[in-house]
Amino acid sequence: MPDPGTAPDPHGGGEPLVSVDDHLARVLSVVQPLSPLELGLLDAHGCILDEDVVAPGPLPSFDNSAMDGYAVRTADLAQVPAVLPVVGDVLAGPATALRVQPGLCVRIMTGAQMPAGADAVVPFEWTDRGVAHVRIDHAPRPGAHVRRAGEDVAAGEVVLPRGTHLGAVQVGLAAAVGRSRLVVRPRPRVVVVSTGSELVEPGGALDPGRIPDSNSIALTAAAVEAGAQAYRVGIVPDDPAALLDTLEDQLVRADVLVTSGGVSVGTHDVVKEVLSRLGTVQFDRVAMQPGMPQGFGTIGPDSTPVFGLPGNPVSALVSFEVFVRPALRKMLGALPVERPQVQARATEELRGPAGRRAYLRVLLEVRDGAYVVTPVSGAGSHLLAGMSRANALAVLAEGVDRVPAGGTVPVVLLERRGR
Ligand code: AMP
Ligand code: MG
Repeated sequence: MPDPGTAPDPHGGGEPLVSVDDHLARVLSVVQPLSPLELGLLDAHGCILDEDVVAPGPLPSFDNSAMDGYAVRTADLAQVPAVLPVVGDVLAGPATALRVQPGLCVRIMTGAQMPAGADAVVPFEWTDRGVAHVRIDHAPRPGAHVRRAGEDVAAGEVVLPRGTHLGAVQVGLAAAVGRSRLVVRPRPRVVVVSTGSELVEPGGALDPGRIPDSNSIALTAAAVEAGAQAYRVGIVPDDPAALLDTLEDQLVRADVLVTSGGVSVGTHDVVKEVLSRLGTVQFDRVAMQPGMPQGFGTIGPDSTPVFGLPGNPVSALVSFEVFVRPALRKMLGALPVERPQVQARATEELRGPAGRRAYLRVLLEVRDGAYVVTPVSGAGSHLLAGMSRANALAVLAEGVDRVPAGGTVPVVLLERRGR
């Protein structure tokens, strides 16, 4: 790989470069949040809420015991040890009509409704666990081990505001306030297609010159990590008719189409050839490294957004990060659409091409309480193993071709998590 800082632009061509910001702005002006949909709680998991969830009643909904023990009147336990007659049992589940009269107590299980008259629960551990009579060794404070109605949520409270990301706790809370369905922004359905006659299904026999299709695997997984519902179509050969057929077939189930490969200036760059004739798709040379050639526009009767990403595996994934992921986040209704960035100190010199924004694959660490980054891959956009060691992308702005060791650089965190 030539020195990226001094090499001539290998893609040549006289067309002006489009800036990353302008290309992203065009993408984000085209894609729109999807229409809201009502889903069951587990289907809504991972989506963005599109309504305010209001608790119809308080949580807990009634005073109940926080322990297995005895419901007592604390006034009866001014002197301990004390022995009290046990006049009944309350279990979790049915409402209780029991009333604790002065000098008496009731055995009670965790979650069971507090009987009227009682003002505290004595845990089993403080007693002899008696059945007809119980000896109580320690006096509880009034209110001890009682969960009060409404202490978590008041009736009428908004427990989950519109815009909430529905993680495990949030869908659980929706269930706890009595909901079974929620209005959410649905996950965008992303269809991923790889183009290239050299591609073989991963695990398949590799005749000379053939390579496994890693892009559609990586891009489908990246779409899932971004919160989408992703479908991997797999490989389409470098044949315009085959690509056109596949795109037409897939349009019905896609909110977004993502292709990889075939967008450069080669003679068999079929994506460029086919998509340029469809809809509003435009192919640009974007001032970035990796990922200079980028196709984007809309096709089909529903103006479905389509991304024509470059074929080199690192270019495809960095392009996904920079353009597709923000688009999917916008469709999901998730804000902010971009990943968090931090400033970090470079442990060694970082280099990028002049006049283009570089995304360097780096390892971000905390040393002595400060962020530091170390490059973990060369600049070549085929170096997928190098990228696999990175947890962040250091961004060298268009006007910056070098950050010295010890210098500060903005870094995009590549948090790897599922939905
Ligand atoms: P292209 O943009 O189609 O010219 O491809 C650029 C480079 O990326 C070539 O070396 C391709 O073999 C490689 N490539 C293209 N598509 C894939 C893919 N789906 N998986 C792995 N490598 C690919
Ligand atoms: Mg190709």
